[in-house]
Amino acid sequence: MDFDLSDEQLAFAETARQFAREEWLPHAPGWDEREEFPEDALRQAAALGFAGIYVREQFGGSGLTRLDATIIFEELASACVSTAAYLSIHNMAAWMIDRFGNDAQRARFLPKLMTMEHFASYCLTEPGSGSDAAALATRARRAGDDYVLNGSKAFISGGGRSNLYLTMVRTGETGPKGISCLVVENGTPGLSFGKKERKLGWNTQPTAMVNFAASPTSRPSNSSSPTWRPSSMPGA
Ligand SMILES: Cc1cc2nc3c(=O)[nH]c(=O)nc-3n(C[C@H](O)[C@H](O)[C@H](O)COP(=O)(O)OP(=O)(O)OC[C@H]3O[C@@H](n4cnc5c(N)ncnc54)[C@H](O)[C@@H]3O)c2cc1C
Repeated sequence: MDFDLSDEQLAFAETARQFAREEWLPHAPGWDEREEFPEDALRQAAALGFAGIYVREQFGGSGLTRLDATIIFEELASACVSTAAYLSIHNMAAWMIDRFGNDAQRARFLPKLMTMEHFASYCLTEPGSGSDAAALATRARRAGDDYVLNGSKAFISGGGRSNLYLTMVRTGETGPKGISCLVVENGTPGLSFGKKERKLGWNTQPTAMVNFAASPTSRPSNSSSPTWRPSSMPGA
């Protein structure tokens, strides 16, 4: 088996390395000290195709592989690990919409995620279950065309700042098979955020609790969009 990187992969790595050294590295200490979420620097990365690395090209992504993404993130992380980590989460959330969403959701969310005009968070961890994802307790109950969410997510990167929250919720039985994923937009009634967590380093991304207190719907109050259907997450 050939474990060497292809010429194309070496080229991504070089692009990412140069970008990270020139655009992120000189600023990273200041971002960390000021606890600044570097939105413009993230959007610069998006302009290079790094916001949807493995989102399909037809939806504005770069259409690359997970391995390609790893190579790119490795380079970005060498300049600012917490910004690179946030970007990797945003990529994962965008991919989930591409992979498990429907056409209306792709058309609605992906264009702004690909430019990082909008930011996305991934909400799995809970105070009561931590690493044991199959035990998560946040519940989504169907109410007509909508869902009512109750529960809390802990340590969410981008919590309070992101525009979208891809949230793992229990819609069915206990254990791994009863879990679905809903997209919740910032501004949805009943959605609130905890205080920004204090961290040692990793200060370029806000990390906070995300709370759903009888959120009466998983769609924003000012939206006329269709209901968001849960997409099943294999193995989640
Ligand atoms: C800066 C930061 C950002 C984060 N961002 C996100 C985010 O965006 N979205 C999100 O969903 N989560 C996020 N997390 C949460 C992170 O994924 C969790 O911290 C992680 O899942 C561990 O959960 P826990 O902290 O409750 O630890 P616990 O689940 O209590 O685990 C504690 C330790 O015990 C080990 N352990 C647990 N169970 C077992 C077992 N059965 N056998 C052996 N060892 C075990 C774990 O590996 C770990 O080392 C973030 C965390 C941090 C610190």
